[in-house]
Amino acid sequence: MGKIFGTFGVRGVYPDFLNEEFAIKMARAFGTFLKSLKDEPKVVVGKDTRRTGESIKESFISGLTSSGVDVIDVGTLPTPLIQFSARFLKVDGGAVITASHNPPEYNGIKLLEGNGMGLSRKKESIVEDIFEDGKFYKAPWWDTRSRSSKDMKIDYFSSVLERIDVDSIRSRKPFVVADEAGGAGALILPKLLEILGCKVLSVNSHVSGFFSARNPEPNELNLKDTEKIVKALSPDLAVAQDGDADRAVFMTSDGKFVQGDKTFALVEKFILSAKKGPVVTTVATSNIVDEVAKEFGVDVYRTKVGDLVVTGKLLEVGGVIGGEENGGVIFPDLVLGRDGIFTTVKIVEAISKSGKSFEDLISGLPKFYQIKDKIRVRGDRKSAVLRFAELVESEGYRVDLTDGAKVIFEDGWVLVRASGTEPIIRIFSESKIEGNEKKYHDFALSKFIEANEDLEVES
Ligand code: MG
Repeated sequence: MGKIFGTFGVRGVYPDFLNEEFAIKMARAFGTFLKSLKDEPKVVVGKDTRRTGESIKESFISGLTSSGVDVIDVGTLPTPLIQFSARFLKVDGGAVITASHNPPEYNGIKLLEGNGMGLSRKKESIVEDIFEDGKFYKAPWWDTRSRSSKDMKIDYFSSVLERIDVDSIRSRKPFVVADEAGGAGALILPKLLEILGCKVLSVNSHVSGFFSARNPEPNELNLKDTEKIVKALSPDLAVAQDGDADRAVFMTSDGKFVQGDKTFALVEKFILSAKKGPVVTTVATSNIVDEVAKEFGVDVYRTKVGDLVVTGKLLEVGGVIGGEENGGVIFPDLVLGRDGIFTTVKIVEAISKSGKSFEDLISGLPKFYQIKDKIRVRGDRKSAVLRFAELVESEGYRVDLTDGAKVIFEDGWVLVRASGTEPIIRIFSESKIEGNEKKYHDFALSKFIEANEDLEVES
């Protein structure tokens, strides 16, 4: 039997893979696990805006209550707010019914620790074993539990307001175009920005469960229409979220797409100027993050790719901010996971307090030249990356194997890494010297092909 849990919990197409029977079974496995730790466990459950979410959530809740677990149903919310709820309500676990940025026919289940963080791999594999064995705790009639409902918006809004300088935003009144993809962000972000005194134009905020306005993955290709709106209206900034609003990407007032590395570095700078502490990011993120950290004399820890590992490291080292190159930022003080809502608020605050434009803040960051490329490869991608690593190491290059193979140069690096979900190899390169990013990219591509002569590669 293959593993059920991937990098993002369980995810698949409804109803072939993920359906109500699956959800009940998964809830029973999770409930049985929680019952083995505590007599009366309590779990927070919420969902994103997908059409199938209601039915999956109801089944999941019924699986928990019939396993002797009390449930607090927080309804339809962005993933970060569900994670926030678990921590705020001091429960023993949580579950988010979401398929993040996947198309509308998908759904998924992401299990949480009591503090709202994604469930650790170790615990996930215990739940997986219970799921496979089917040895569930079936509560006798007197131990079946109940569900209560709670609206968490006010608690989240208050917690956000406690952490920012509202007055500076209210006096600047930034104009923000917010594209929520018809996802869960639409239920929170426009309202929150209005409360903060922003002028908001909400785009794709119709929550139908179909993501009919645009694909919920916020990449340049899917944001072409939003770009036109931004160019026509010149807001102070534009934000676009993925389906469950844990990620946010940004555009400047002239519709230029800002790389996730840069928005992360901007937020990092802003956070560190208020409170110094360790920074955590992955091996795939730009060295801008290190240069910003150097200005404040703090350490940067680099992990494998994935928000769960970044969050785990943040807790371990007492970090103040964590993030990824794809626009995911983690504020461990508020939510133990990526929060695309608070990221937006922090950027709005940074603009307001500085009195500068978003463009100026971005161009004020240390400059690096980058290439983010991917190639399609058939066959065993992980072994192919290892063969590449062996070849370049044997030629005397310095290679970091934290995740994939990262060749380190004096003025930059190139990372060759197999995607966990698609048949592709990502090649990211960067340098402080213009032109070298291309040199390092081409070097890695040719060495990768040389090390894997039998492999079919399409550029
Ligand atoms: Mg997401």
